[in-house]
Amino acid sequence: MIYSIVKYGDPVLETQTATITEFDTPELHKLLDDMFESMYAAKGVGLAAPQIGIGKRIAVVDLSVGEDPEKKIVLINPEVIHREGSQQSEEGCLSLPGYGAKVPRALRVRVECLNERAEPVVIEAEGWYARILQHEIGHLRGDLYIDHMDSRTFSTQDNHTRHGKA
Ligand code: ZN
Repeated sequence: MIYSIVKYGDPVLETQTATITEFDTPELHKLLDDMFESMYAAKGVGLAAPQIGIGKRIAVVDLSVGEDPEKKIVLINPEVIHREGSQQSEEGCLSLPGYGAKVPRALRVRVECLNERAEPVVIEAEGWYARILQHEIGHLRGDLYIDHMDSRTFSTQDNHTRHGKA
């Protein structure tokens, strides 16, 4: 099922999400399938559950936007446990369509999370990938990227930006 993307202004985007405690259930598998499907329909590279109106600590990422099944990443109860360096580049969000902004982020991160079978996963990411992970994990805390900007200077972003939306 394809959900429509919740837009900026909806309180679900600014609320802490609930930690997942039940794994490998049909409901969880269905939700993950729906999240990937909804993300691909919106041409996004990342999607957090609050962006489809569900206040749960789950995000999905696929930098290939559906081109490569190996690139599908499930993040359940994720935490950034290490940050290094800094980067500042253009970021877009499916919940703020049409806009982009330069957002300061760590250059490298280590993320710990669980997959749908409650197996621990450690992700070491750098650059664009690290930025998307920080963006999604922010959504799960009720943060939007505009909360991390030095100044609120928006630029309009076309739909084919090479940086992707998340
Ligand atoms: Zn976003």
